[in-house]
Amino acid sequence: MLAGKAALVTGASRGIGRAIALSLAEAGADVAVNYSGSEAAAAEVVDLIEAMGRKAIKVKADVSSSQQVDEMFKNVLESFGKLDILVNNAGITRDNLIMRMKEEEFDQVIATNLKGVFNCVKAATRPMMKQRSGRIINISSVVGALGNPGQINYVAAKAGVIGMTKSAAKELSSRNITVNAVAPGFIETDMTDSLPEETRAALLQQIPLARLGQPEDIAKAVRFLASDDASYMTGQTIHVDGGMYM
Ligand code: NAD
Repeated sequence: MLAGKAALVTGASRGIGRAIALSLAEAGADVAVNYSGSEAAAAEVVDLIEAMGRKAIKVKADVSSSQQVDEMFKNVLESFGKLDILVNNAGITRDNLIMRMKEEEFDQVIATNLKGVFNCVKAATRPMMKQRSGRIINISSVVGALGNPGQINYVAAKAGVIGMTKSAAKELSSRNITVNAVAPGFIETDMTDSLPEETRAALLQQIPLARLGQPEDIAKAVRFLASDDASYMTGQTIHVDGGMYM
C-alpha cells in the first residue's frame, strides 16, 4: 500500500506515534522516527522497522523549535531523498483549571501542540510542492471539537489544529498535497495512564463503544489517510473515538 514512500512521524518513540510509525512501515513505507525524549525508545522503534525490511532513522528535535525542525527535515531529506508523508503527532498536556493555569502551562502546550504542527507543515511544504505530491496528517483530539474542563490550553491547540488542517488543505491542494486530521478519543497511552480510577469510569460512560481506544485504532486511520485510497480527501477530520463526538 505504501511501498516506496518516505514518512516522518513526530513524537514516534512511544504511544500513538510509535503505533503510527510501525503501521506505516508495515504498509511498506520507510520511516523517520522523531523523538525529543528517550533515544533508546526511538532506537527500538527503528530496530522494529528495519526488521520489517524497511529503512528507518531516528531524528531528535523539539517540534516547538523551528530551527530544530528545519535541521530534522534536512536530515530526513538527505537520508530518504524525498518526503511523501508527514504525521504531526507530538503533543503534551499541562492540565489545570483556568483560575490556576500558569502562563507557562498555556504557552508550553500551544508551542508544542499548535506551533509545532505549523513548524513541521511549513518545513514539509517546500519538498512536497517540488514533488507535486504529499500527505500531511495532523493528530488533533476529540476535545478540540467538544471542549474539556481543565484543558483550556490543550483544547485551544487541538481546535487550532483542525483549523490549520483546513487552511493548509486549501492552500496546498493545487500541488496535490492533501492535509487531513485524525481526532482520537481517549486512548490508552502514557498520556492517559495517570487518570484516576473514578475519572476513567466516568469517561467510559461517555464512550458509546464502552472502551478506551488503543494506539493501533488511530494508526489504522492514519495509514488509510496516507494511502491512495484517501486520494480524494482533504481538509477533513476523522474522529476515532468510540463514538464520543457523535
Ligand atoms: P505520549 O505522551 O505517549 O506521546 C507523545 C509523544 O510526543 C512522546 O513521544 C513525546 O516525547 C513526544 N513529544 C512531546 N513533546 C515533544 C516535542 N516538543 N517535540 C517532539 N516530540 C515531543 O502521548 P500519546 O497519547 O501517544 O499522544 C500522541 C498524540 O495524540 C498527541 O498529539 C496527543 O495530544 C494526541 N491525543 C492523545 C489522546 C490520548 O487519549 N492518548 C487523545 C487525543 C489526542
